[in-house]
Amino acid sequence: MSQRSITVLGATGSIGASTLDLIRRDRPNWRAVALTANGNAVELAKLAREFAAELAVVADETCLPALREALAGSGIEAAGGPAALIEAAARDAEVTVAAIVGCAGLAPTMAAIERGRVIALANKEALVSAGEVMTAAVARHGATLLPVDSEHNAIFQCLQGNDLEDVRWITLTASGGPFRDWSAEQLARATPAEAVRHPNWSMGAKISVDSATMFNKGLELIEAHHLFPVGLDKLRIIVHPQSVVHSMVEYRDGSTLAQLGPSDMRVPIASSLAYPARMETPCAPLDLAAIGELTFRAPDEVRFPATRLARAAALAGGAIPAVLNAANEIAVAAFLDGHISFTRIAAQVEDVLSRYAPPPPQSLADVLAVDAEARVRSRELTEAT
Ligand code: NDP
Repeated sequence: MSQRSITVLGATGSIGASTLDLIRRDRPNWRAVALTANGNAVELAKLAREFAAELAVVADETCLPALREALAGSGIEAAGGPAALIEAAARDAEVTVAAIVGCAGLAPTMAAIERGRVIALANKEALVSAGEVMTAAVARHGATLLPVDSEHNAIFQCLQGNDLEDVRWITLTASGGPFRDWSAEQLARATPAEAVRHPNWSMGAKISVDSATMFNKGLELIEAHHLFPVGLDKLRIIVHPQSVVHSMVEYRDGSTLAQLGPSDMRVPIASSLAYPARMETPCAPLDLAAIGELTFRAPDEVRFPATRLARAAALAGGAIPAVLNAANEIAVAAFLDGHISFTRIAAQVEDVLSRYAPPPPQSLADVLAVDAEARVRSRELTEAT
């Protein structure tokens, strides 16, 4: 493999760390263009020095002095603020890993798409909010969108060499999160510390809460609807507590293809970085004899209404998934800050969805306006709680 250039948006996060761990192990083959963070200037500067990046950007401009100080004498450019983040994403790199959390990643991801190169997309909220606008931009600019989310990466792999018209079902697996077996009464008392303690995966706080509410699976359903246009009625969710089967595709001849692997994001990230080739990861081989049993069960949408809300949002289309996503981001932050209960997250999202149904967005600016308004409304509900 000849040396490739890479930008990591969200370099200081969980996906960012897994990506850079792979690059560290395969160093001669990669050249870092830009690394970004929100406010973690010290860690960002450390990574930028280690990977000899051209540019390091903090989205939170108040952290720029700290970044400049930490990069002093390195020759690495430092910048801060939303415009600098977009400029970093627009700088030419063959591969951009989009790993910012939340809709905050949307504008920089769109800037990277406009370069028409490879986007390894982890930032599911961006695709959920701007589905039609983003997929149209990918087609218009000839970009290649590779899904990093483990389920979508699994589906992408299972679809290789096959025709979408032959698909009978796409089944997304869900671990069910830490509260899979909790009663409604227990769920009402769940704490942020309990919610972020995922049984199988080590992830950032927001996605861990999403996993506990099942909004993660709901967002993934909408993400799959955009990535693999087989029709919503062919997309299913199944709870699989061991997180070994990462998703499945059943074809019309009765064959089901599945992708299996350890619960380690380095596997799907490596698959995207090396695509269409393969690269080494340090993950232990899958030991099915040691795992012993793989179990599956139907999701419970009474205790976990998030997937029902997400399916309805996907069906409505247009701006509705952006409303769902923004309302959820605010509700998750409110839960993590101790302002609302765990079960109030889905209730708050449903309340926002029932009162705000803007027309379909036609542009990135429209999506961002819907996102901003849905945040205001979700915040108002938090304050009224
Ligand atoms: P983390 O919270 O661990 O990291 C988020 C990254 O985004 C950090 O670099 C953070 O910077 C940066 N960031 C946060 N807010 C902003 C902002 N407003 N503007 C610019 N940058 C910002 O998240 P994860 O790595 O867990 O998740 C990243 C994305 O990948 C999410 O969309 C998630 O759903 C998706 N994903 C994650 C998986 C996982 O295993 N973690 C699995 C599948 C998908 P700073 O450190 O300075 O705060």
